[in-house]
Amino acid sequence: MKKALLSLLFVQLFTGCEFSRTTDRQDGETKELPRIAIAGIAIESSTFSPALTHEEAFHAKTGDDIFTYYPFLSPDSLNRKRANWIPTLRGHALPGGIVTREAYESLVTKTLDMLKENIPYDGLFFDIHGAMSVVGLDDPEGDFIIRIREVVGKKTIISTSMDLHGNVSWRLAQNTDLITCYRLAPHEDALESKKRAVDNLLSRIESGKGKPAFKAWIPVPILLPGEKTSTRIEPGKSLYAKVAPASIQKGIIDAAIWVGYAWADEPRNHAVVMVTGDDKEKVISTAEELAKSFWEVRSDFVFVAPTGTLSEILDKAVASNKHPFMISDMGDNPTAGGAGDVTWTLKEILARPEFKLENGPSLIYASIPGPEFVIKAIEAGIGGKADAYAGAEVDARFAPPIRLSGTVEAIEYGDRHAETEVVVKIGSVQVIVTNKRKPYHKEIDFTRLGLNPRETDIVVVKIGYLVPELYNMRADWIMALTPGGVDQDLERLNYQRIKRPMFPFDKDMKDPNLEAQLVPLSDDI
Ligand SMILES: [Zn+2]
Repeated sequence: MKKALLSLLFVQLFTGCEFSRTTDRQDGETKELPRIAIAGIAIESSTFSPALTHEEAFHAKTGDDIFTYYPFLSPDSLNRKRANWIPTLRGHALPGGIVTREAYESLVTKTLDMLKENIPYDGLFFDIHGAMSVVGLDDPEGDFIIRIREVVGKKTIISTSMDLHGNVSWRLAQNTDLITCYRLAPHEDALESKKRAVDNLLSRIESGKGKPAFKAWIPVPILLPGEKTSTRIEPGKSLYAKVAPASIQKGIIDAAIWVGYAWADEPRNHAVVMVTGDDKEKVISTAEELAKSFWEVRSDFVFVAPTGTLSEILDKAVASNKHPFMISDMGDNPTAGGAGDVTWTLKEILARPEFKLENGPSLIYASIPGPEFVIKAIEAGIGGKADAYAGAEVDARFAPPIRLSGTVEAIEYGDRHAETEVVVKIGSVQVIVTNKRKPYHKEIDFTRLGLNPRETDIVVVKIGYLVPELYNMRADWIMALTPGGVDQDLERLNYQRIKRPMFPFDKDMKDPNLEAQLVPLSDDI
């Protein structure tokens, strides 16, 4: 009890705003702090994958736990003191298959119920990804924000932060007031972008300027995979370098370019440019310049690293003297929405003669979910032999479950995503088998299992473009055009519902109309 009181006192002393609606100003007057809610659910989910995403995958946080997502809202931060924050529910899932309707409805209902408890709000920070697919529901983020509006009303200023691989439908644009997205891929600026959404919201509320007078929206009929639109290389680099200077012009609040999400089949899946601000001409011209710049370079986007078929790449990697030779197993990349359990690539690797001997070229395969194998490996213990099937529980379209038989080298418990991880050595291949799917993005993901990727000849990861840690580790890198729910060869996917014509599918399409459309303010809907 005493401890609880002390911590309450601590919170009051150091956050200043959690329990009071006013703050003292130096001039002795008191100013009411704005009331700002936080909400949002984030996932990118492929409609080309047979996987389903359930509610627990979102690891939803509620109340004050939500602040742990945002270091810029830590108890001692300036921004924390600028408002009376009311965090509701925030969930973030690994990319995956389509979200079940039950999961979506449950998360939305919980959010709305929590929002109802504390109305009214001056502002709402809507933190989403923007590429969620839900069974039987188009444009879930557009649906979600409309349902939020029904609770909070038209006056609340909503500031939306998104991934640049999200989609901005007209109704999302209508119902949000401020909107921004990342400007880097890989997303090294994720937190900076969320902070920008919050800073813009606070400054519009504090200055009394309120909602931006103008919002320009331009759909750009381009649909490209993230692996072709990295901002580390051209033309993505120069295109996205235009965004920050565009956004700091007088009369502009923010400017943003969305590449969009390629592995869902809805009319909203395409690139978008949005600019918000108070200067009508500037807002329009800036949006049109960015959209035109995107369209002009559309044919220059190429994969961020060389690509090839798996067998060609394995030939090269075995012959190479550059190690580690990284291979992206792209088609089943769980961080883009693949099921993560396609066994096709592993089957091809284990069938090759050079990896059958213990002293063959060393290769790490990360990773394959196989709960049945994990149980057998635990029974066998480290150094024991395990023999069981793994993979293809969700996505067996390209290869069936794979029988793994080898020596158990490591068993680790407690990973948030994988739950249990084991390493099994088969010939010269070390395969990471997990209880549940997990992306291997960091060096420590490997070293904690006793693996040393830097000293390994070949490292195969279910990933698209390499995240910074793996990128910096690579001696060479090729991306394999393997099959799966996020096949990078978009022309192999059978789109039915995206708008046409669309680049690059319609080769002889004419230049589109890239005039800015002014979106009605949320008050006028
Ligand atoms: Zn993204």
